[in-house]
Parts: sequence; structure tokens; C-alpha cells
Amino acid sequence: MTAKILDGLKIRDEIFEELKTEVASMTAQGVRPGLAAVLAGDNPASQLYVKSKVAACEQLGMASWLHTPSASVTTEYMLQLVEDLNCDDNVDGILVQLPLPKQVDAKRVLEAVDPAKDVDGFHPVSMGRLVSNRPGLVACTPAGCMEILRRSGIPIEGANAVVLGRSDIVGKPMALLLMHANATVTICHSKTRDLPEIVHRADIVVAAMGKAGFVQADWLKPSSAVIDVGTNAVKDPAEAESLLRNFPARLEKFRVKGSVLVGDVHPDAVNTAGALTPVPGGVGPMTITMLMSNTVKAARIRRASPRISATQSTASAR
Ligand code: NAP
Repeated sequence: MTAKILDGLKIRDEIFEELKTEVASMTAQGVRPGLAAVLAGDNPASQLYVKSKVAACEQLGMASWLHTPSASVTTEYMLQLVEDLNCDDNVDGILVQLPLPKQVDAKRVLEAVDPAKDVDGFHPVSMGRLVSNRPGLVACTPAGCMEILRRSGIPIEGANAVVLGRSDIVGKPMALLLMHANATVTICHSKTRDLPEIVHRADIVVAAMGKAGFVQADWLKPSSAVIDVGTNAVKDPAEAESLLRNFPARLEKFRVKGSVLVGDVHPDAVNTAGALTPVPGGVGPMTITMLMSNTVKAARIRRASPRISATQSTASAR
């Protein structure tokens, strides 16, 4: 049987429409949500990410500002820039694109962001709010995974959920969100024993390990919903051949391009899982979507009137 595809692009479009309406309504009342992005140095991948975040702001009618300190920027300069953005009332969200140049103390810079503007959800205050299930800004990728599950009608309450990975930005917040939604959560990591057996018991699997095709198709329960967070660029022809042996069209594309994006779940899982997010086109588009949602939410909480609060969308409410 072929798994139901959980289409991240479709869910992104749905949420964008809701956010557009909310941004227009807030702007009409004098509060235009705005995101300030800080891109230090000249990392090409970071430039691409920040460009798409600024483009998303424009698409939604939000304000955006881009600050581009040079690769030789100091920690002190970054701290002053963050402080200026903290004090600017028009700025609702501050995004410090990682990685920062190596001479910059990234932890100090991230902790300098006002938690009320922490739209990445990385600040210890935001993490603390999440742990204690208080309202707050949640890291975008796990928040996006929850939107996929909810909007696809996947039952979470009482489900056995297995999270593969325990990073601060994906695995840990993901496990907390699932637990707060009343799933029974197992968190796995590189020292976990009997992974296939644990995965086989799961109704929901979230794979966030950074290992191409690691979760084998036959580990999955036929009714399971699989959220594949992994985005691994496979360049080795032998690895691509082995992962995509049942997908001749994708293999052909690999041969032309010399690389292919593969998740942490083996592509063959499309024939064994009940539902799954594709890579690309699953979790990926949700990360920027939730950044936009967090910025609107930050604007609403920090400076919007009670009338605006009443118009909040499900996407930006938690
Ligand atoms: P990370 O910080 O490298 O964490 C990886 C986690 O996976 C660690 O907790 C590690 O365990 C665990 N792990 C590694 N090998 C394992 C194994 N054999 N069995 C079980 N667990 C294992 O990675 P991350 O930042 O969370 O990202 C994970 C993946 O998601 C990456 O592919 C990344 O590119 C992708 N990602 C995608 C998006 C998106 O928008 N789609 C956003 C963020 C991340 P230990 O703790 O024991 O080392």
C-alpha cells in the first residue's frame, strides 16, 4: 500500500493565506508585523535562506529589514545591533542567521535577543516556557511538524510517538510539543539500543538525525505517520543508487545534477508507512512558514490591541 503524502507545500499555502488576512487586519489597525534579519558574513547557503525569509515577509505584506555585517564582525558589534533591534518598536521578530562567523560568541548573541522578539524560539526563556507548557514562541521546525500532524488529522492524543534525535532546535522541542499534546513520547539518540523495535511500536515517528535513509522501511508499523525532518544532500553515486533503486526518475535526476536531497527515512517507506512527509516538500517549507507565524504572533502579543487578538489564526496560536 502507498502511504498518504503529507504535503508541506499545501499546508504552507493554507497557513500563508490565513497569515495574509491577519497581517492585513493588523496593518489596518496600525500594527504592521515586521521581521529584522541579521546575516553576518558571506555564507552562500545562509544568504539563500535569509533571502527566502525576506521574500516570505514581502509576500505576506509584513515589514522586513536586512542587516548584513561583514565576516569580520565582532561579538560587541553584534550585541549592539541586537540591542538596537530590541529597542526598535517596529521590529517584532529578530532572526540571527546561523552559523555566525567563528570569532563571534553565538550563544551570547542569541541570549541577547529580547525573548518577546525571539521568533526562532532558541532563547532559554522560550525553551523554559515550552518545558512548562506556557504560551510562548516555539522553535519553527518542530512547530511546523505539529502543524502538519494537526492539519492532516493525525491523532496525537494517546499515540505512541517516537522522536529520533535530541537536538535543542528539533528533537527536544518536538518531544515536548508531542508530550503536551498528550502523546506518549520516546526520545531516541545515538546511544539508543534496539531502534528498529522502538520505531516499530510507534504510531508517530519524527526522524531528525541528519542521516540519509537511516530509518528502514520495514521498521515502520503500516499505520504509522512519519514526519521526516532530515534534509541530507547525497552526492555519492553508490549511496544514491542504493537509496533510490526503486525510484528511477529520481535516480535519473541525480545522474544529471550530481546530488539529491534525501530525508532520514529510507525512500522505500512510501510503501510501508501509513502517511509520510516527502523530502523535499514536507517539513522544509514549514520552517519558514512558522517563522512568519511566530513574527505575527510576537507582534500580536507585544503590541497589538485586544481587538486584534480576537482575530488570531490557528496557525499562530498555541
Ligand atoms: P543534530 O544537532 O546533528 O542532532 C542529531 C541528533 O540525531 C542527535 O541527537 C543524535 O544523537 C541523533 N542521532 C545521530 N545518529 C543517530 C542514530 N544512529 N540513531 C539515533 N539517533 C541518532 O541535528 P538537528 O539540527 O537536530 O537536525 C537533524 C536533521 O534535521 C538534519 O538532517 C537537518 O538538516 C534537518 N533539519 C531540517 C530542517 C528543515 O527545515 N527541514 C530544520 C532543521 C534541521 P546524539 O545526541 O546522541 O548525538
